[in-house]
Amino acid sequence: MYRKYFDLQQQIKEIKRYLPGFDEEKFRQAFEFAEEAHRGQLRKDGETPYIVHPLNVVAILAGLHADEDVLIAALLHDVPEDTKYDIADVKQMFGEEIAFLVDGITKLSKVHYQHNMPERDVESLKKLFLHSSKDPRIILIKLADRLHNMRTLKHISNDEKRLRIAGETLEIYVPIANLLGIQELKSELEDLSFQYLFAPEYETLKKKVETDKEKHRKLFSEFSRDLQRALKTANIEAQFEERKQNLYTIYKKISAQGRVIDDVEDRIAIRVVVSTVPECYQVLGIIHNKYIPKIDKFKDYIANPKPNGYQSLHTTVFGPEGVLTEIQIRTKEMDLEAEYGIAAHFFLDEKEKIGSDRRSSWVNKIVEWEQEGEGFLEDLKLDIFHDRIVTFTPKGENVDLPAGATVIDFAYAIHTEVGEKAFKAEVNDVLVPISTTLKTGDVVTVLTSDDVHPDLSWLSFAKTNNAKNKIRAYFKRVSQAEKIREGRKILQKEFDIAGLGMIENLNFKKLKTQILLRSGKSFKTFVDLLTAIGEGSLRGVEVVKIMKKPQKKGIKIRVKVLAKNRFGLLKDISKVFYEHASDMTYVKAWASHLNEDAFFELKVVVNDLESVGKIFDELAQIDDVRYVYRVSDRGIILTYSLSILTGMLWIFHPFLIHYIAVKESILPDSFWYNIAINFGLLILLSMVLFVTNVMKKYFPLTRNKKTLWLIAFAVPAVALITLFAELFYFNLKMSWLAVLIEVSIVYLFLGISFVNFKRDMKGI
Ligand code: MN
Repeated sequence: MYRKYFDLQQQIKEIKRYLPGFDEEKFRQAFEFAEEAHRGQLRKDGETPYIVHPLNVVAILAGLHADEDVLIAALLHDVPEDTKYDIADVKQMFGEEIAFLVDGITKLSKVHYQHNMPERDVESLKKLFLHSSKDPRIILIKLADRLHNMRTLKHISNDEKRLRIAGETLEIYVPIANLLGIQELKSELEDLSFQYLFAPEYETLKKKVETDKEKHRKLFSEFSRDLQRALKTANIEAQFEERKQNLYTIYKKISAQGRVIDDVEDRIAIRVVVSTVPECYQVLGIIHNKYIPKIDKFKDYIANPKPNGYQSLHTTVFGPEGVLTEIQIRTKEMDLEAEYGIAAHFFLDEKEKIGSDRRSSWVNKIVEWEQEGEGFLEDLKLDIFHDRIVTFTPKGENVDLPAGATVIDFAYAIHTEVGEKAFKAEVNDVLVPISTTLKTGDVVTVLTSDDVHPDLSWLSFAKTNNAKNKIRAYFKRVSQAEKIREGRKILQKEFDIAGLGMIENLNFKKLKTQILLRSGKSFKTFVDLLTAIGEGSLRGVEVVKIMKKPQKKGIKIRVKVLAKNRFGLLKDISKVFYEHASDMTYVKAWASHLNEDAFFELKVVVNDLESVGKIFDELAQIDDVRYVYRVSDRGIILTYSLSILTGMLWIFHPFLIHYIAVKESILPDSFWYNIAINFGLLILLSMVLFVTNVMKKYFPLTRNKKTLWLIAFAVPAVALITLFAELFYFNLKMSWLAVLIEVSIVYLFLGISFVNFKRDMKGI
């Protein structure tokens, strides 16, 4: 029975005290309905009847002097989501206005989002804000709902879920409460979140505040007694109140200053409420006359109200016994405002005033976001909320990071070694690349591998200085040879991305001058350049930028992705392009029937070379992706036309020989005859070499394939066999020495290239 948990009679009495026209009958009817709807349901503690939750939400709202519709909507707020009744039933029984309030906080259907619950949360939040923009009272009900859920959060047994809810509260609902200026509610939500998100810090701080309680009480009465006496002579009537300290605010203050909890200065907080604004300044004068003010601690929020409308005078003085005493001085109206915030206007003033209240402008902002559609939550957080996030290890230890931090920041924050060996992560049980941006409440498991070493490309997505410095430190540490190898790898990657071919083929002399002219850096040798890139003092992309002419708007690229096929792969790939705002103009996907291979070919327009690099990095990090490379149209055309030309020559040249040498019987043993045969062979062989080089240049994937080398060695052999067949068939004669020399040249060249290739593969 709910009576054991909630005194409804007493609650109604309290409501009637501030709401004279309260329709008790209607309220009771709503209660009966909700009670019946939730009957049999229990709260998470396994014993409290569910109806106790809506009743407590009512109590919180009654504390804000909420109106009747809001109180009734609060009673019904979980009915459509969790019971057999829906919003239509609510509408039928309690009318449109209450139904609209209830609908605003009702989450979207579970059925519709059963495969994507996070999306359901975001969409539900959008709905909440959209409805709130039409009736801001909805957000108040939601805040009260959240407050009661936070008060009973300890009953949620799933650690991860508890942390997620606490994180969400701190990140979304606390700022909203702050924005609406509902201080009390904000502070309680904040401290409750703090309690779960930073449990050890919370406990220590709480203990400290508790031990000082008695002493503070004594100091407070001493201060108010002294001040009361002084105010009496000035004929000012004032109320004094010792303020409860907001633990999270203290924590934020000390952690921002890099101090520990034990260093927290002893201080008390007092509020003085007077009747008029001039009295506020008079009181301030009296206080400053009696006690020494702490310099820089005086703030006049009466003349300059906070963006959320908050008004008060703030000062800190060395109070009785020299203890720091924070004082807020304000009028009764200001006090009411600070306590009820926007609610003060909703419920205490006539409703017309809401529109002109500056605090409701955030609601309009939400409508704009909604229209833009994408990145709703991100914008919401960025625009008005904190710039820090709290993430968790699987053990529930919190890791505090700046907003925008990625998995690699998390990994380095845990331990340098974890950072250096990180190759992927599980965020809330989903496998993601280390470049993934984290958000508050994420539970992150970093997967490490001994085969992984820091990569300079990590610098492009590391956000914390800690991670950046450690990545750089790693590269300072590694040997010269490793730097050169790394530099070669990076530069080649940038070359491939820019479609510039093999770095071996670049004209270093020309580049050297260009680099000197453009960046003032001078490099004696190519190895020096590679070393600089390898240790991170020069970025590969800068070299490419210097080499490439400045691009017009938008770079069109064609990208091929080779991967192990799986469900959702194309979605992951397109997401990368989507996030870099690149326009996708063409997508082709192909999956092998023989093995699990899948190929994707995409044409996109990218803003700049740096984005191209980021896209390549992120694509390569997608799970199951094996290789990403840029396809050059010029390379494709060149390769195909050269191959076709070579094939044609090959096929038709015996006919030519037949025609010239046999049919026309032109000088079978003449000098020109020999030249023709040898020259033809040479052209064929060199074209084979040319095609393999073009392929290496434009198709990075073929570079480390043995097949390419097999073809390169086999094709001249086939050419030789063809030659011998022709000699035999047409009964031709030629200089064997010349043939020997030609063949040696080709194979010598191939051999040298192959040795170079092997050496590159192994590093230097
Ligand atoms: Mn609820």
